Amino acid sequence: PSFFFSPPAADLTIERNTKCKPKPDPSTLLFGKQFSDHMLTINWSEKGGWESPQIKPFQNLSLHPASSALHYSVELFEGMKAYRGVDNHIRLFRPMLNMERMHRSAGRSSLPLFDKGELLECIKKLVEIDQEWVPYSQDASLYIRPTYIGTEPSLGVSRPGKAMIFVIISPVGPYFSTGSFNPVSLLADPAFVRAWKGGVGAYKMGGNYGPTIAVQNEAVKRGCQQVLWLYGQDEEITEVGTMNLFIYWTNEKGEKELVTPPLDGIILPGVTRQSLLDLGRSWGEFKVTERTMSMKELLGALDAGRVLEVFGAGTACVVCPVGSLLYKGKTYQIPTMQNGPDLAKRFYKELTDIQVRASPHLYPK
Ligand code: PMP
Repeated sequence: PSFFFSPPAADLTIERNTKCKPKPDPSTLLFGKQFSDHMLTINWSEKGGWESPQIKPFQNLSLHPASSALHYSVELFEGMKAYRGVDNHIRLFRPMLNMERMHRSAGRSSLPLFDKGELLECIKKLVEIDQEWVPYSQDASLYIRPTYIGTEPSLGVSRPGKAMIFVIISPVGPYFSTGSFNPVSLLADPAFVRAWKGGVGAYKMGGNYGPTIAVQNEAVKRGCQQVLWLYGQDEEITEVGTMNLFIYWTNEKGEKELVTPPLDGIILPGVTRQSLLDLGRSWGEFKVTERTMSMKELLGALDAGRVLEVFGAGTACVVCPVGSLLYKGKTYQIPTMQNGPDLAKRFYKELTDIQVRASPHLYPK
């Protein structure tokens, strides 16, 4: 029964760091290079269930070399941010969506389930203790990295009898350092596949990310900045690097429409994706559709001048305009910047208003 019991937030123990580091200047921050003074750890074992969550000074982990995370990628993670508002209040953005995604990833990883609300309480406490690490800046924020690993100390490929959740936090700077949108160029090569039907692309497992690094390097080698992941015979367009993909166009019926691929198992269900769909639908000014689109269809629409904006969406950048595509040796220009990009900018403003200006919003949590 302890399999389903939560790590109770009320039992949290706190060991304060007595050697707190100076906080970095927000304008010098690089992604994920600096970490705060504390971390959260919660251990689980088959025999004892969940131990009390611990907040303690940031430190190295000590792991048995046979730990299943190190051999079989029994590992998953989350990525979310805490923002310092203009009113100086610190807020998380729809964090329960991250907890729910983490819970689904745990189920698929054969790691013990946990109570989402209790884990979120522990994370909030960690952010509160390290609140001075939330940058005093509307452009910078505090990135939160919940991680969940199998620590089973044996080599059998089987459900871990030991596991650990840990959370580290890192101040991060603005994604667009110049303060304005910079469009990215994409490599679309069907030789590379990120995820497939029946696979685990919809879960945030480390094993989905390590193998993409070589492909990203290949994109850079070919003069592109990111990868447009294609899938299957029809070369469906799926995601951009580690972002969900949006296309704003005039469809064949002449209607303005925002399209993003559906959650059919090969797409990571992004919190930003969900938020853009919610906002777009609440405005009711254009059609909002979740459906697959092939490379052929996109290139046809580009050729016909029906594509208005293409952008990625994710926690790191909110929205990231796409300026061109390299496909089968040919570069295709996308007029995202020439069109404003009005919609991408509007989404960016709406979301950042909610995150740092506590703007009222329409979606539930
Ligand atoms: N797709 C992939 C593959 C990702 O890793 C991420 C980042 N979590 C996203 C999309 C965007 O998700 P979110 O909006 O929750 O950051």
